[in-house]
Amino acid sequence: MYTIILGAPGAGKGTQADILSQEMNLPHIASGDLFRQALEARAEFGLPAKSYMDKGELVPDEITIKMILEKIDQSDCASGCLLDGFPRTLHQAEVLDQALEEQGKSIDKAIYIEVPSEELVKRLSGRRLCRTCQTPYHTINSPPKTPGRCDKCGGELYQRSDDRDETVKNRLNIFFAQTLLILDYYKKQGKLIKVNGNQGIQDVTREILSALKHQCQPEQSGEPLRFPSTGSGRAPVAEFTLSEAKALPQNDIRGEHRQNKW
Ligand SMILES: [Zn+2]
Repeated sequence: MYTIILGAPGAGKGTQADILSQEMNLPHIASGDLFRQALEARAEFGLPAKSYMDKGELVPDEITIKMILEKIDQSDCASGCLLDGFPRTLHQAEVLDQALEEQGKSIDKAIYIEVPSEELVKRLSGRRLCRTCQTPYHTINSPPKTPGRCDKCGGELYQRSDDRDETVKNRLNIFFAQTLLILDYYKKQGKLIKVNGNQGIQDVTREILSALKHQCQPEQSGEPLRFPSTGSGRAPVAEFTLSEAKALPQNDIRGEHRQNKW
């Protein structure tokens, strides 16, 4: 079973991929981890990938795609894997399909963990890290006992520049503009599963596992509602329809890899 996990920064995609990897006994392939491993192994792609990430730029498609395909071709992925952080553009999704076809494989399901944009902003902008031991905190969900101080080592807590309000909104805008096209792509193939990510971690996992057991309901085509979904109140990020998303620039924009720690 080749499954793609999609979700905005802050939607809990990595957490769910880790849990699902255990539950389904499939390797979890996170594109950020692959870059790091390639670098440690001094593999062909490691250094060029690092130079882009050091500059805060997106690693070019051809490097990313080669690394992912090489990984999928390894024996531990013979019966499937969970892809996390890839594909992130429509072009990558199309290239992935072609390459898998050459290996006699195909993507079975694409799971989208949906969280209202205002909740994402809240989750991301509340993140804090300890300067000394890197323990993560959240001002609302897991606050330290003493504000601004690490429970474990007393170190100072800080907010990464990526998690500041304006940067968060910018990252989300990029994510949504790229992702609506990917969602549309898998929806047309009858492979898209949408789950509610605005609930407890275990509930999200339960919903995904139950949806994977059932056949996807191929969704009716037609112009979807405005994207991304919002709860109540004003959307903190830009909203658009599918045709508007198609008109947005899809390349040459900086993305989520910036946040991967090296
Ligand atoms: Zn600490």
